[in-house]
Amino acid sequence: MLVIMETNATEAQILRVKERINEMGYTAHDVQWHANKAIGVTGNKGAEDRVYLEGLPGVLKVVPITRPYKLASREVHPENSVYNIGGAVFGTGDVVMIAGPCAVESEEQTLRICQIVADRGAQMLRGGAYKPRTSPYSFQGLGEKGLEILAKAREVTGLPFVTEVLDTSTAATVADYADMLQIGTRNMQNFILLKEVGKLGKPVLLKRGMSATLEETLMSAEYLMAHGSSEVVICERGVRTFSSHARNTLDISFIPALKHVSHLPIIVDPSHSSGQRYSVIPHALAGIGAGADGLLVDVHDRPEEALCDGPQALLPDEFSELMKIAKGVCAAMGKSIGRETD
Ligand code: PEP
Ligand code: MN
Repeated sequence: MLVIMETNATEAQILRVKERINEMGYTAHDVQWHANKAIGVTGNKGAEDRVYLEGLPGVLKVVPITRPYKLASREVHPENSVYNIGGAVFGTGDVVMIAGPCAVESEEQTLRICQIVADRGAQMLRGGAYKPRTSPYSFQGLGEKGLEILAKAREVTGLPFVTEVLDTSTAATVADYADMLQIGTRNMQNFILLKEVGKLGKPVLLKRGMSATLEETLMSAEYLMAHGSSEVVICERGVRTFSSHARNTLDISFIPALKHVSHLPIIVDPSHSSGQRYSVIPHALAGIGAGADGLLVDVHDRPEEALCDGPQALLPDEFSELMKIAKGVCAAMGKSIGRETD
């Protein structure tokens, strides 16, 4: 349930409501409900004991939350959530461009590619230091050395970076370096990991599981939020279907559907959805057209040498081309994309 306070409610009144929620054995979460301060209640089975909260001073009303996900629901937070993550602002309607190599392969390769995307207007860098690979014989990532390299790329370009957290044993280390923690598609329902990452309190990029429904995705976001994450961005990266012409099927319908029920920003990864260079730009533009708040794009200047996902990486010129066309699409939609470059 959601306890909505009067607009002139005092801090003492809010504190009393939170104490009562704790006394009832539930958990209180600060939320904003239009112009009013509000307190989201989790841990309760239904809203039948709302009478114990309704009579408290400063309380305007107590409303039940009908969705199984609470903190991620628009019922609790009617406006879009907006987060500033190291200067990249998600959720305003403008499109955030996140780009970089799929994997951190070496310092030289990472600095080179990160500089390329920074010069072309990216607002955030991407790159995996810990890689979830289908084959145990494939490159598994550089681990902490990769994080050090990403930190150097941030220093050189001035841009924040997002990188994947693979397991609980390395989560705190990744959080020490990264501006945003990525939960990959294969881990979307690793609930132990979600709880641990939630506790770290860092911004999270949660990729939709490759066969996850909208509700399952938001329940995973709820795990993060219930354990301490206050900034969660969802990423649609294509799902498994009977189609085999692309690596995955980009589920465009997911974007407006998610926005309808949730206040969380959602971005699109056109690289992992398409799996092939030639269809990355169309997937990216479709994502923008559907209302995505950002893009997560693989870029490589020597894709034939890439240790991971070379075939889907855009070449530098293609990345410039994407920025150029996307700017036009965004302008037609009254939005912007990327940083101004000279
Ligand atoms: C990635 O973004 O590097 C990645 C592994 O993506 P996904 O989890 O969507 O497969
Ligand atoms: Mn990849």
